[in-house]
Amino acid sequence: MQGRSGPHPGNGMDRNQSRGMSRRGALRHSTALGLGATIVWATGTPAHAQAGKLAKDAVKYVDQGDVPGKDCDDCMHYIAPASVHDPATCRIVDGAISPHGHCIAFTPKPKPAP
Ligand code: SF4
Repeated sequence: MQGRSGPHPGNGMDRNQSRGMSRRGALRHSTALGLGATIVWATGTPAHAQAGKLAKDAVKYVDQGDVPGKDCDDCMHYIAPASVHDPATCRIVDGAISPHGHCIAFTPKPKPAP
């Protein structure tokens, strides 16, 4: 049979775009996992607090960062609160966080495409 060259039987552009997104997502995921392993090695502190997230102590989290442009709300792991009644959270650090916080896992948000 023809057309069984891969999991995406569409045109070549769709297949390439899909692969690009998968690689990017996998890279981000593996970077976060690698960072967690490095933190455990460097601090000797169990990094996982709850549900696979890192403990604040393990990443030296502070509620008020002191490096301009490197606050939590500048980080790609930041999750803005859903409402004014909810706390901000983080994809990789456990618990509520401050938009003006900072930790050693800070990763700048990707710049928008030109
Ligand atoms: S700086 Fe740390 S705690 Fe803040 S959003 Fe980024 S990874 Fe999460």
